[in-house]
Amino acid sequence: MTTTSGRPRVVIVGCGFGGLEAARKLQGAAVDITIVDKTNHHLFQPLLYQVATAGLAAPSIAAPVRLLFRRQPNVTTLLGEVTRIDPLAHEVHLADGTRLGWDHLIVAAGATHSYFGNDGWARLAPGLKTLADAFEIRRRVLMSFEAAEIETDPARQRALLTFAVIGAGPTGVEMAGTLAEIARHTLKGEFRRIDPGSAEVLLIEGGPRVLQAMPPSLSQRAMEQLQRLGVQVRLNAKVTDIDATGLQVESPFSDGGAGKGSHRIDCHCVIWAAGVAASPLGRLLGEATGAEVDRAGRVKVLPDLSLPGHPDISVVGDLAAAFSHRRGKEPTPVPGVSPGAKQMGRAAAANILRRLAGKATEPFRYRDYGNLATIGRNSAVVDLGTPLGPLRFSGRIAWLFWLFAHAYFLIGFRNRIVVLMDWASAYWSFQRYARVVADVRAKAGPEA
Ligand SMILES: Cc1cc2nc3c(=O)[nH]c(=O)nc-3n(C[C@H](O)[C@H](O)[C@H](O)COP(=O)(O)OP(=O)(O)OC[C@H]3O[C@@H](n4cnc5c(N)ncnc54)[C@H](O)[C@@H]3O)c2cc1C
Repeated sequence: MTTTSGRPRVVIVGCGFGGLEAARKLQGAAVDITIVDKTNHHLFQPLLYQVATAGLAAPSIAAPVRLLFRRQPNVTTLLGEVTRIDPLAHEVHLADGTRLGWDHLIVAAGATHSYFGNDGWARLAPGLKTLADAFEIRRRVLMSFEAAEIETDPARQRALLTFAVIGAGPTGVEMAGTLAEIARHTLKGEFRRIDPGSAEVLLIEGGPRVLQAMPPSLSQRAMEQLQRLGVQVRLNAKVTDIDATGLQVESPFSDGGAGKGSHRIDCHCVIWAAGVAASPLGRLLGEATGAEVDRAGRVKVLPDLSLPGHPDISVVGDLAAAFSHRRGKEPTPVPGVSPGAKQMGRAAAANILRRLAGKATEPFRYRDYGNLATIGRNSAVVDLGTPLGPLRFSGRIAWLFWLFAHAYFLIGFRNRIVVLMDWASAYWSFQRYARVVADVRAKAGPEA
């Protein structure tokens, strides 16, 4: 597909944080942009766990890509999956055979789950990355309680009321904390044969502390807040096997009640929050361009985010192994978080404009605003970088800070209002209203 305007063609692969910001930065520029995504929506992943735990409905955190660009006439939106990138012909190929030519290409295809070589676990322990993942996790959680209410065998009933979250990064901590709240508060009084409050929520972490990207003092606070919610945190515990009715965990220490050695946990609902790998497009791009790819499948980019020998191709966001370059300082790796992807998207677009104006490109500088993670109602931890040094706090103030920051960054005014109203109502009532499951297969767990 070519454009007839004669203007430079910019193709952006992926409309996540990186792709969206790149296209926005090119608003009003004399270029024809084609943004291609395999889904029809931009997704605010930081609140995806709220959909998975029935707190928010999908449209509150996702917006149709077409709608986002309706007032940006230089953008054409295409729904399609990019399966190949041909740097010699300057074309991307879509799964349906469509080919798109580019003068400048920005690849922002993000990341996916990594099961560390155990890909068979994907069916048994879904990860949280897309809306489809969130719906499946929500179904498994809610159906576990339903199946437990019907079950008459006490051992099977206990297994149905056991929830395991693997990986205590921000997503694992959020999921475990919210699952405990659902069991203790949301479902209270709704069942007759089981006590949902007796459900066990296990958070299994291979490392020595939760939220390892945070300073140890905040990890400790997060751990205490999780325990207060009733989450059983098992540190230094490695999952060695997962099947349809449970998982095998190995621990070198008697830690967090897990016991030393290898032991089995009977459980029908396992959620994977342990590993991230770049989109497979990273390796394809590496093979096609000769660019180096790291162990996580991320493409190593030059300081200006382009690829060696291919100044017309930039890689941004979670797909890029990028460094921040500050004058007079050692380059530092850019973390795989949404501000990193947004800033890279804007920087890659700005460099395209510089090249079109015959100017030199500029190295990417990452501005780190800090780290936030929520654990549950009134509990969160915040680590902010300020000119006076780090500002760290936890508890209710941190939770309010987290809440307003996330609402602020949501796409669209309507979403912000709806989300704030839903949160306010959930706060007072302890309810989670997005509990309607259309796909009611009565059984819980992966065999459903
Ligand atoms: C559950 C979860 C919680 C998170 N919480 C936080 C948080 O609290 N704070 C924070 O800063 N960061 C958080 N992150 C990380 C943050 O969301 C990512 O760093 C950010 O989304 C990366 O942006 P991106 O543009 O690189 O990729 P993405 O936002 O993942 O976008 C990639 C886009 O590419 C599309 N795509 C992929 N492959 C193809 C293909 N072959 N063809 C066409 N389109 C394709 C996808 O459909 C998607 O729309 C979280 C991530 C997850 C999964």
